[in-house]
Amino acid sequence: MDYKNYKRIKVGPYQSVGILEGLYVFEILTGIADVPEYYRITKEEFDSYDQWNTEYITDLKTLFTIVNRKCVCNGYNRVNPVPRNYHYDVAPCPICGHETVSEVGKVQLGTLYEVACLQCGNNFTKLKD
Ligand SMILES: [Zn+2]
Repeated sequence: MDYKNYKRIKVGPYQSVGILEGLYVFEILTGIADVPEYYRITKEEFDSYDQWNTEYITDLKTLFTIVNRKCVCNGYNRVNPVPRNYHYDVAPCPICGHETVSEVGKVQLGTLYEVACLQCGNNFTKLKD
């Protein structure tokens, strides 16, 4: 992924949400040089950005689960960020397409984990990569 393909759609303080190569992502500027990092978000999180973009003042729950996901792209290394263990993941259901966020902190990178779709109840597996 190349961060230069990011399309910023909604803007908040030091953050934004938009689309990067077909995925909804959250952009946050990090460090003294304001280098961007991108994290996968669901369509629901994209739609509700106006509600949670000031959460750092009150309740960090949504922001916390987002920045503890896989960093899909950043401005330091445009090709492939070094994989690190991440604690939350977004999995699209193969039946209904709904995206469910799962806690995957104990799942090893490179292994499959079980997801129960929050919308239709379908059980499927997702690779933690
Ligand atoms: Zn489903």
